[in-house]
Order: sequence, then C-alpha cells, then structure tokens
Amino acid sequence: MTDNAPREKALLEKVPDGLFIGGDWVRGSSGQFDVTDPATGDVIKTIADASVEDGKAALDAAVAASAEWAATAPRQRGEILRGAFDLLQERRDEFALLMTMEMGKPLAESNGEVTYGGEFLRWFSEEAVRITGRYGVNPEGTGRMIVSQHPVGPSFLITPWNFPLAMATRKVAPALAAGCTVVVKPAGLTPLTTLYFAKLLQDAGLPAGVLNVITTSSSGKVSGAIISDPRLRKLSFTGSTEVGRKLLEQSAQNILRTSMELGGNAPFVIFEDADLDKAVDGAMVAKFRNIGEACTAANRFIVHASIADEFASRVTERVKAMRIGRGTEEGVTIGPLIDEDAVEKASTLLQDAVSRGAKVLTGGSRTDGPGTFFEPTVVTDVRVGSDILHEEIFGPVLSIVTFEDEDEAVRLANDTEFGLVSYVFTRDLARGQRMIDRLETGMMGLNVGVVSNAAAPFGGIKQSGLGREGGFEGIHEYLETKYTLTPSPFGA
Ligand code: NAP
Repeated sequence: MTDNAPREKALLEKVPDGLFIGGDWVRGSSGQFDVTDPATGDVIKTIADASVEDGKAALDAAVAASAEWAATAPRQRGEILRGAFDLLQERRDEFALLMTMEMGKPLAESNGEVTYGGEFLRWFSEEAVRITGRYGVNPEGTGRMIVSQHPVGPSFLITPWNFPLAMATRKVAPALAAGCTVVVKPAGLTPLTTLYFAKLLQDAGLPAGVLNVITTSSSGKVSGAIISDPRLRKLSFTGSTEVGRKLLEQSAQNILRTSMELGGNAPFVIFEDADLDKAVDGAMVAKFRNIGEACTAANRFIVHASIADEFASRVTERVKAMRIGRGTEEGVTIGPLIDEDAVEKASTLLQDAVSRGAKVLTGGSRTDGPGTFFEPTVVTDVRVGSDILHEEIFGPVLSIVTFEDEDEAVRLANDTEFGLVSYVFTRDLARGQRMIDRLETGMMGLNVGVVSNAAAPFGGIKQSGLGREGGFEGIHEYLETKYTLTPSPFGA
C-alpha cells in the first residue's frame, strides 16, 4: 500500500461498474471481467461483461434516442459538450489518476491527455453551431440547388487502450455535436476511463440513450452483431490495422460509413543542417511520450550519417536519466507497457535488429519484479530489412538508421505500408517544403515532435486509415450531404 492508496480506492469506488444503456447503469449478461494495473498486475476493479444481447440493447437505445437528438438545437448540443468540458476540468485529477492506474502512463502525461482529450469537447461544442450548407443557382439558371448537412445516425465507436480518454472524446464529441447518438466500446484493458466519462456526460445533462457504453471481454462477437445490424449507420474505429481491416470487411455488408484511425510507422528524419538541440528534444517526446505506445510514436530515426553519432550519444544520455516506475510515483518518466504481449513484442523486434548487426547503446531488456516494464532503449546501426523498421514497436525503443542524401531519406521514410505521421528536422525551409510534398503521410511535424491538436485534422493515408478526426473535418465524419433541386422562383 502506498500513501496514495486511499485516494485510489475512493476514486475506483466512484467509477461505475455497469454497462451504460438508455441512461441506466445495468449489469452485463455475460457476468464480469477484471481490469488490472499494468504496473503491479493487481486487479483494480471488476466490471460488467456485455453479451451480444447487451450490445443490441445499447444499439436499441441509441436508435430510440436518435430522432430527438438530431432535432435538438445545435446550440443546446454544443452547450452540453461545453458543460462536459467544464466538468472535466473540475475532475481533471481524478481522470488523470484513473488513466495512470489502468493504462500505466506517468501522471504528468495523463494530465496532458486530460487537457488534449478535453479540447475535443470544447472544439466540437463550438463546431456544433457551424454546420453549414449552400444555396446556389444551377448553371442553366432554371433551378436552385440546396446542399444541406444531416446527422449520419446511430454510430458505433470503438476505441483502443493507449489514450483511454482522448480517443473517446475525439469520436464522441464530433458525433454528438453533429446530432448522432452513439454506442461506445472501449478496449477491455482500459474501460474505466470511458465509464467515468459516461458518468460525466450524464452529469452534464446528456439525455438518456444519446451515449451508451458497453464493456466486453468478447469484442469480436459483440461488435460483429452491432456492425451487422442494418439500423447502424456509422462505424468509427481506432486501433490496429489488422483489426481495422476485419471491421472494414464486416462494414461492407451494409455499406456502412466508416472512419479508420489505424497503425503507424512514423519516420523521424534529421538532416545534417538541423538544430540538434531541438531535434533531440523532439525525438524524446516523439519516441517516449506514452511509453512509446502511440500511433504517432516515432518508429524509425532516419539520421544523416554525419550527425548520427552525435545524435545517438545525446539521446542515450537523456534516456539513461529516465526513471522507470509506477506512473503515480514522483519523477517517473517511463511506466509499464500495457501487458506481457507488448513486452514480448518489443523484445523480439529488438533481438531481430541485434541479430542483424544493430548495437544497443542503453536499455534493451525487461525489468525484474512485478509489472510489465521494458527499459527505455537506444539502438543504432539498424540494418535495412530489420523487422523493427517495418512493424510498430509500440514501446520505448529508439532505433537509428543513417542516410547520405535527401533522396535516400525520402526513400527510407516512405518504405512502409503506413502513412500516419512523419517528423522532419531541418533549418532549410525549401527542403522542409519539399518534404511536405514528398513524404507519404497524413500529418507532418516540421521541427516539432508532437502534432496532435483538437483543431487539426488527425488521420493517415495508405494503411494508416480513412477519414480525419478533429479540426473542421472531424464533424463531417458524422454528417451526410443532401442535395435538393427546386425550380427557380422566377420560372424557367
Ligand atoms: P486493437 O487490438 O486493434 O484494438 C482496438 C479496439 O478494437 C479495442 O477496443 C479492442 O477491444 C477492439 N477489438 C479488437 N478485436 C476486435 C474485433 N475482432 N472486433 C471488434 N473490435 C475489436 O488495437 P490496440 O492494441 O487496442 O491499440 C493499438 C493500435 O491502435 C496500434 O496499432 C495503434 O497504432 C493504433 N492507434 C491508432 C491511432 C490513430 O489515431 N491512428 C490512435 C491510437 C492507436 P479489446 O482489446 O477489448 O478486444
């Protein structure tokens, strides 16, 4: 027991353990399942396990509330979201602690996620009243063309474990702002933040049935039944490309609107003219934020050969100073990985790179004792063809390859089926602009290591996904365009 234990216990007691369906907290018909703290392996709460029937009941509730919510004044929808933003600020410390407990990230980073996640509530509270259309004369002059926007309808939102709050708000806020009702399914590893967020929305005055939450240990079965229901109009998914591909296949059956925020394999290119202090700062955040478990995490450091040693030694020094531990402890900068599979994956990728000639400068192993910790690691001289350059590491391993000229850097950076985000460090503005054109990527950080912002269109190309979340674009994922032709009021 730590000093913090009573606070953690009190918070966990406030988090609902049921399914949230039609405005009520109900038991799951498949019993319950455990949620654990990855830093200790301890069960922290046991929550409702939804069956296929529960999933259907959640969709029933979303369908029943759909017409009334779509007809609710945009200003009122926006006010509820704004109220939720304010409540989140009041409950900030609780949400931060809860995320650290179920996911493992250091408390300071959980706090950062509350800020980031909250901004989607504020941004889309403002966007709710800016859903526009257009009115025009047809080219023949005989008619008037009216283009209007309408809510897509009941939407199913599936979120991953790595950003338990922000991945939920990034979908829920634009859906509700657009006038859609939703069923949310968080990852089984980190469902508590979403349950507590549903309670927050309830407290903010969201009408019953507009948001429903199901937690389940049988994602495939329960989700499959919802996706195949013809009353569902939209699926928004954030997670791995592998699962996204399956869900796209299922969605094809009913020609569902889909948004897919999938995996990444971000290159981090450092040119010889870069400001190395800034590049090192950018690298630390792009790689080690969220313990490396971010779709936007830099996966491959592609560094000009003339500065690679200097860069490697500077990041190694910084990495050696990092502190591993439970995210609630003072000064901890690296929490546990989410589970044993994640530790196994980081180890296997690293071993493959080393077996092909790469050198580990620091770290390289899991730590002893309870919890799924992996040391922050720097590995250099990684050979082209190593698995670590092609797969998402999703852990605190910084791997370095070198290049000689711009064409080679572009070739290496684009050598992946993913295209979520790329980072480029250079002092040469023209070269920076060329890289915007040449890199196959949905987002780019030019001399910065983090790009996420509620006001920006987040999303990828290639196998990183379809659609955008956030920005002006985010609400359009939940709107249908309708075109109407009417005769000219002046006659033909
Ligand atoms: P995941 O295994 O694909 O799971 C994502 C979500 O899908 C979870 O809620 C999971 O629930 C559910 N799920 C798994 N199998 C399913 C199935 N057959 N049918 C329906 N739902 C299913 O991904 P993850 O490990 O949680 O998250 C890591 C991945 O997400 C990485 O690839 C990362 O790059 C990606 N990601 C992308 C973005 C982005 O914006 N592009 C952001 C964050 C993360 P259960 O786990 O409970 O089964």
